[in-house]
Amino acid sequence: MSISEHEHEGLLTIDLGAVVDNYSWLRQHLVNGGRCAGVVKADAYGLGVGEVAPALYRAGCRDFFVATLAEGEQLRNLLPAEVTIYLLTGVRPGSEQRCAAANLVPVLVTIEQLRQWCALTASSGLAAPCALKVDTGMTRLGMGGDEFAQLLQMPELLAGANLQLILSHLACADEPDHPQNPAQLAVFNEFVSGLRRICPGVQASFANSSGICLGEAYHFDLVRPGSALYGINPLPGRKNPMRPVVSLRVPVLQQREITRDSAVGYGAAGHAAAGSWLAVVRGGYADGILRTQSGRGRGMAVAGDEKIAVPMLGRVSMDTCVFDISALSEDQRHRLEVIELLGDDWTVDDMATAAGTIGYEILTSLGRRYCRRYL
Ligand SMILES: *Cc1c(COP(=O)(O)O)cnc(C)c1O
Repeated sequence: MSISEHEHEGLLTIDLGAVVDNYSWLRQHLVNGGRCAGVVKADAYGLGVGEVAPALYRAGCRDFFVATLAEGEQLRNLLPAEVTIYLLTGVRPGSEQRCAAANLVPVLVTIEQLRQWCALTASSGLAAPCALKVDTGMTRLGMGGDEFAQLLQMPELLAGANLQLILSHLACADEPDHPQNPAQLAVFNEFVSGLRRICPGVQASFANSSGICLGEAYHFDLVRPGSALYGINPLPGRKNPMRPVVSLRVPVLQQREITRDSAVGYGAAGHAAAGSWLAVVRGGYADGILRTQSGRGRGMAVAGDEKIAVPMLGRVSMDTCVFDISALSEDQRHRLEVIELLGDDWTVDDMATAAGTIGYEILTSLGRRYCRRYL
């Protein structure tokens, strides 16, 4: 296998077919006509919203969540006008007109925000569409119980508000047995029924990727998966039902035999015994190969059709890192041109575990220097 010039800084392959399959898998788990959104914030978790969002649209996705106004405006230009785009971090004072002009639905978290949104976007009596996020136990963004109770005492405000969706977020969805899941569910059910007494048509949304796997009671009208679309396991500790989406192969810059015991890399933190073989690859922490996996990382040495697991050695540098390829035969070493840092054999979740983090951070850290190829 020979690498072409534009792949000299590494080849990041993103399998849009796998994204679509993962979307379909999640949607199949919904009953009673529940809808499945696509969460494409942070450039579709670093994988490229310009490619991922149209693929999801073709798969039937009509509801999208992004984080920021700029992300919303970008997505609005990418997709047909019929899609609904929600802004998870709401709208900042002064940006309401811009938000409404792009037909973006802000997720509001205070009565004051709701009032402002209604006042500034009302035309012929009805304000522009918005969503409301309530806090059911995550204690991050969201309207708390007391303020929500006050809001329910304001039927005139709610009547003028074009409230499309009430949502909340689970804190422990990736731990199916955590008691906080049913506790948050009970609170959310109470909030939803309270609001529906005043706004009967409002839809509800609760589950992220892992939340979908908690079962039907968590699905409501619209689910909001992100990570699972991109191949991250929504069931940590169990077999991953999702297809892997990302593969990352980086070129070997140098391989050599170590003739005497040597310290490897910064801080002399790695150790190579005499007679071992090392490969230095083009990929470091500036490319999202997190430095915290130093000494614990792994890769798959690609020798023709064969793949051999090889350990990372020493600290990850900015542009490079080192692998111990002593496990390869001489013949395999001759054929070695790239090391696979992410793929079917060493997944995003595996790298995350080695780096002491979660797959989300691995994906959103993937650097801009790779050649990107979409399948
Ligand atoms: C990011 C996010 C999601 C998607 O979560 P995943 O765990 O990636 O499926 C859903 N809802 C909210 C509010 C989010 O911020």
